[in-house]
Amino acid sequence: MANSVMATPAASVAPANPYVTAQRQFDQAASLLELDPGMRAVLRQVRREFTVNFPVRMDDGSIHVFTGYRVQHNLTRGPAKGGIRYHPQVSLDEVKALSMWMTWKCAVTNLPYGGAKGGVICDPSQLSQRELENLTRRFASEISLLIGPESDIPAPDVNTNQQTMAWIMDTISMEKGYSVPATVTGKPLSIGGSQGRPAATGRGVLVVTLGACRRLGWNPSECSVAIQGFGNVGSVSAELLDAEGFKVVAVSDVFGGIYNKDGFDVPALLQHQAKHGRVAGFAGAKEEISNSALLELPVTILVPAALENQFSMENAARVQAKLIVEAANGPTTPEADDIFHQRGIVVVPDILANAGGVTVSYFEWVQDLQSFFWEEEEINSRLTRIMERAYQQIDDLAQEHHTTLRMGAYCLAVKRVADATAVRGIYP
Ligand code: NAD
Repeated sequence: MANSVMATPAASVAPANPYVTAQRQFDQAASLLELDPGMRAVLRQVRREFTVNFPVRMDDGSIHVFTGYRVQHNLTRGPAKGGIRYHPQVSLDEVKALSMWMTWKCAVTNLPYGGAKGGVICDPSQLSQRELENLTRRFASEISLLIGPESDIPAPDVNTNQQTMAWIMDTISMEKGYSVPATVTGKPLSIGGSQGRPAATGRGVLVVTLGACRRLGWNPSECSVAIQGFGNVGSVSAELLDAEGFKVVAVSDVFGGIYNKDGFDVPALLQHQAKHGRVAGFAGAKEEISNSALLELPVTILVPAALENQFSMENAARVQAKLIVEAANGPTTPEADDIFHQRGIVVVPDILANAGGVTVSYFEWVQDLQSFFWEEEEINSRLTRIMERAYQQIDDLAQEHHTTLRMGAYCLAVKRVADATAVRGIYP
């Protein structure tokens, strides 16, 4: 490896509160839509927030109490839908923001769902498989008051996966006395999972990236891409973008990043990551870089696929990419968004860019309810149709309102939820 690219030191300001960000984005759309004040008040709050403190027996025999959350932002258009995250920095406000973004994401793609999210404050890298299973089963039992095929359907998110979903499905099924596969999505195929679900979010990222390139008149082979985060979403995005002719030149994970301006052999990189659990040390890398340096590389396209608040007032002016595709939820603060808009950097917003996952989760739920399963080809072509249509609709709205793609997406989503709320009326 050659010398490292130096990152500008991170600013010492506190990271933005994601719920404040989510509400500010909503307020902006509500103003554009001239939403009635009562409707505004209803939609800018989460409907239910549930905190659980629950004991887990650890491998050494001790008992540890964990804190977890399940939040439902909205249930007007159907059952609530949203992932479960395991991370040391999970907070109630983060889960509230993520639940609100789920409502808009489902509405943008016109899925018959509201929005929810869950999280447990924990560091999964410090837990054994047995402890993770105990934690997951007890958390599932604690939130079983809320979740179920007709009320609220969880899915994987950061640090959770097919195995986590299998444990949740089994726990709820044991409590019911019969199998309830439609309780969660993102399950293994053997218990009612869907073809195409593991790759769905990355596939959606590909569809909207191609849509943006068409709109901007770019050829994929002329575009270099940097991807932050190399988990489910980031690694699949890398694989599919590479296969479509984009040049993936930088990737990173929680341990750091790598860069080669000539592009990586992505299949070899995936093998390296699978073997070593990190991207660092890959033979095809020319430089090691930090996560913050990755965001400032001279690339055409940036794909944040890790966590919130990666672009802020502090670094937005130094971003050199011309297109940002938000595979992660909430990577851009409102201040950074304004800077990108002023600088002519196009941002495909999270509520569309990463909606491929929930779209195929919807297909999985439909298949489970009918006990009738589809071929992967059908899944992928339906996913592509939904994502392309949504992209076109938000692009049209952005142009009509002379605004960003994010506000185009919010206008489409918030209007759909507001219309549904108005026609249902206020109970009683
Ligand atoms: P994951 O746990 O599979 O992967 C997360 C990746 O981010 C890992 O490579 C990890 O090392 C890296 N990471 C963690 N902390 C980091 C940090 N501080 N700096 C840099 N990298 C860091 O999670 P995922 O499912 O791929 O989710 C990634 C993002 O995509 C999240 O914002 C999630 O909410 C969003 N998302 C996921 C799905 C899905 O289907 N899994 C769907 C929609 C949106």
